[in-house]
Amino acid sequence: MNCPYCGYSDSRVIDSRDVNEGIRRRRQCLSCEKRFTTYERLQPAGLFIIKKDQRREEFNREKLLGGIRKACEKRPLPTGAIEKLVDEIESGLYHLGKSEIPSTLIGDMVMDKLKDLDYIAYIRFASVYREFADIQALKEAVDNLVVTPRDKIHPGQLPLIPENHVNGKKRILPQG
Ligand SMILES: [Zn+2]
Repeated sequence: MNCPYCGYSDSRVIDSRDVNEGIRRRRQCLSCEKRFTTYERLQPAGLFIIKKDQRREEFNREKLLGGIRKACEKRPLPTGAIEKLVDEIESGLYHLGKSEIPSTLIGDMVMDKLKDLDYIAYIRFASVYREFADIQALKEAVDNLVVTPRDKIHPGQLPLIPENHVNGKKRILPQG
């Protein structure tokens, strides 16, 4: 497997562990030293995605990673946050123990995680994934972003001037 960052063909294994249907390995590129994850399946049967038109396509981690990276473009995310998110989704999928998984389930998993990670990225992903089919949901998501400071003031807040000093009542100051 070539490095997804620079394309270099050699990497060293930092960590490997068994997951449901294979071995997950953390690798470090010998050229650019960035880290990435690979899955090696023990069973020849891979994980297939059922697309909206019912076609099957083999699950492709890089494709999923690419889609999420695009949604997170120029967002102030900590290093490794996107990789971690994809790791979680991938191991979640393998833990389902199924050979075929609907693409909508993966989309929902991604949206769920992105929502917590970065709201802008979440909206970007949702707008692509849902193909603007659900404009109302998208509008609501955008509306939730706009919270002006005024909205934060509670209407029942105590007035700054005590009641007995307003309402036409005047304080009579002693005259010198
Ligand atoms: Zn590299």
